[in-house]
Formats: sequence, structure tokens, C-alpha cells
Amino acid sequence: MMDTTINRRQFILGMLTAPLSTIAVARDVAEGVAGEALQSAGADAVGSSMFAWAPGFLDIHHIATGRGNATFVIMPDGTSLLIDAGATADGLDTSAAPRPSAQRRPGEWIGRYVQRHLRATKRAGLDYVLVTHLHPDHTGDVDETSPRSAKGAYQLSGITDVAEIVPVATLIDRAYPGYDYPVAPNGRFASNYLAFVQSRIQTGQKVERFMVGRNDQFTSRNKTAENGSGHQAGFDIRNLAANGQVWTGKGEQTRMLFPALNTLTLKDYPNENVCSTAIRIGYGNFAYFTAGDLTSYTFDGDAPWRDVLTAAARASGPVDVSTADHHGMFDGISADSVRILRPKAWIIPSWHISHPDQLQLERMFSERLYPGKREVFATSIMHENFLANRRLISRLSSRDGHVIVRVAPGGKTFTILITDNADEEDRIKLKFGPYLSGSAS
Ligand SMILES: [Zn+2]
Repeated sequence: MMDTTINRRQFILGMLTAPLSTIAVARDVAEGVAGEALQSAGADAVGSSMFAWAPGFLDIHHIATGRGNATFVIMPDGTSLLIDAGATADGLDTSAAPRPSAQRRPGEWIGRYVQRHLRATKRAGLDYVLVTHLHPDHTGDVDETSPRSAKGAYQLSGITDVAEIVPVATLIDRAYPGYDYPVAPNGRFASNYLAFVQSRIQTGQKVERFMVGRNDQFTSRNKTAENGSGHQAGFDIRNLAANGQVWTGKGEQTRMLFPALNTLTLKDYPNENVCSTAIRIGYGNFAYFTAGDLTSYTFDGDAPWRDVLTAAARASGPVDVSTADHHGMFDGISADSVRILRPKAWIIPSWHISHPDQLQLERMFSERLYPGKREVFATSIMHENFLANRRLISRLSSRDGHVIVRVAPGGKTFTILITDNADEEDRIKLKFGPYLSGSAS
């Protein structure tokens, strides 16, 4: 109740100081939109800290640590989901500087980010953590210097750092309980993640395998979903793809894209990226697509089954916001996946010198692939990438900072906030929208 009151007052103040263009956009969007949703969308102001989540809002935070992927979602009923918590050990010659600083590990910063934003939900822990696939920029790298957990026989980095700070009710990954498909994961980071999974099982904590085709694996955890604003849980998360299985769009049916492994030589086996999980989050008219490091590259037609991303996009249909998967790298989004998803906003989870690739940017901006205006955001663009891809990088709406998609109650409108990742104040640097949700617009 209190949050709502503050939001309304702040909205009026915000409108008094808003540039004319913002007011014009707001007026356009207002047609046919509930007054409440529009007021909420107008509340956050550039230069101030973003408002805390309030019941009815869907907030999707793309956390910019400069060291890997981490997306934190608070559903309209307060149910929370963290997708990945990367922590790479790449050098500063090829990867962005750690944000806010190197004084803490990336996973610690992510854990603290989650912890402070969870306060508004009045819940102490994360309901779900989804690991899209087993790579260090999504789970956390470890070496001999990584500290040991106080909770189990594993080291702290990425996901395990987060779990050390914030209790995790359910951990979901693409492979549990067997991690040998297509091949057993290799490397110290993978052994560490498996030790973490083992420790959770031994201590009676939930771990689940991602179930493709289902829309009831990520559900409302808030048993008192009837909250102050009167909004119900209202969100829907559809599991679109993992391990080559893709939802058909009918019931919970799936189909398998990968050939049987015994028909392939080892070098042609599906890699870890192409096994990534893909989901679609829906709320009213609003839809969001994200698919870890799924790729579309088929070795130029030699192995069509490797294009899982386009199949997952087809299962999703058009959305309002999409991530540019596999960090906008050369083998990421296909022209067809862009034609299908046609979002109003692309968000590139970037931090490496190779993120993003020029052709991928060309596709995101291409009005040949789909008409209309769109914004492209990136979490961290290295200067070297800017120099190489200046023509298109200069068109990005932001190149540095957390990218937060804030969907208003009911899902009819959304705004996008860029907050400063130099500290933990969540100060808004830039604000975009409000946009009207829905593929028809
Ligand atoms: Zn990655």
C-alpha cells in the first residue's frame, strides 16, 4: 500500500519535470490503457534510485557485472527466479572490468543485488534458480584461490556465491540427475557445480531437471497471492527447449531435434551451448524470451538440427523483449529467429571483447526482418568492440549498466531502466518507454 502511494506522488512529480517528448509518448500509450498501469510506469525518474518492486509488477533485471550472465526476475506475486550467475576469470584484455568493483566476486555482487531487491517481496530467499547450461560465464569459474563454502564441500563462485548469501528453494538445470548427456562435463568449474548439487541433495534441498514443454515448473510460490493491489499471480512461464527437445506448441508435447548420438562422430556432438534451456515469460499481453547460449549456426547447412534457437523462437512466437542469445556472438540469433521474435527491445548480455558480433547487430536493427522501431541494449560493451563495430554499436540505446524491464501491473505497458553498475544505489541513468505490450502493436 505504501509503495503505491509513493509511486503515485512520484509519478506526478516526474511528469512535471519530464521532457515534452516523454509526455507525448505517455499520452499516446495512455489510449486504452488502465490509468493505474500508466501511473506506475511513469514513477521511476532518471537520477534517482529505481523504485522498489511492488505487487503487480514484473521486474526483469539483467545484472551487469562485466563477468557473465545473471538475470533476476520478480514475478507480479513476488515469486523470484534467478537465471544464471556467471563469473568468468577472463583477463581485462578480453573482458570488461568487474562491476561494481573487484573488491567482491561477481557472484557476491549478484547475491547482494538479489538480496536487496528481494526485500520488497518480504521473502528471504530465491524461489528458483535456473542454470541454462554448464559454462563458467553462467555458473561461475573456480580455481585454487576460490574460498570454500561454509555450507558444503564446494567452492564459492557465481551460483554458489549467490546460494551462500540467499537461500535457494529450488535449483533447476538442464541435466539433473544425470550429467553425462551428450558428454560428461569437464573442468574444475563443472566438478564444483556438481559438488554443489550433491550437497543440496544430501541436505534435503530441491534440485530438478528442466522439463521441456511444461508451464507448471515455475509457478507461484506465494500462497498469499491475493496481495494489497488485488492482482493475482498472473504470470506464465513456458519451458520451450533444452537438450535438443523443443516444445511443439501443443499441450506439453515436445520433439527432438538432435540425431541419436551413435549416428554422430564425437566432433559433431551437440555442444553445451546448443543444449541450453529456453523459456518464455508471459504476463497479460507482455512476453519475454530468453535462451541462455542457444545458437542457430548449422555449419552453413551441414547440420540443420543444430539450429535450436530458431525452433525455440518458433515455439515462443512474437515477444515484447528478447535477449540476444549467446551474447550476440556470430552463431547466435538467426535471421529467422529475429523475424519470429520481433521484439520492441533486444537485450545483449555482453561483457567480452567478441560481444556482440556485427552481423548479429545488423539483424537486430534490420527493418527488413521486421518493421518498426526497436531499441537495443547491452550490459557491458568493451571499447575494443566499439572500435570494431562502431557503425552499429553507436546505435545502441545503452552500452553499460544493469538493464531492467519493468512491466506495469496487468502487463499492458512496460518501461526499460538502465541503472548504474558502479555501486549498489540502483540509480537510474536512462529510461525508455512506456511501451505498449502485445505483438499486435
Ligand atoms: Zn555464455
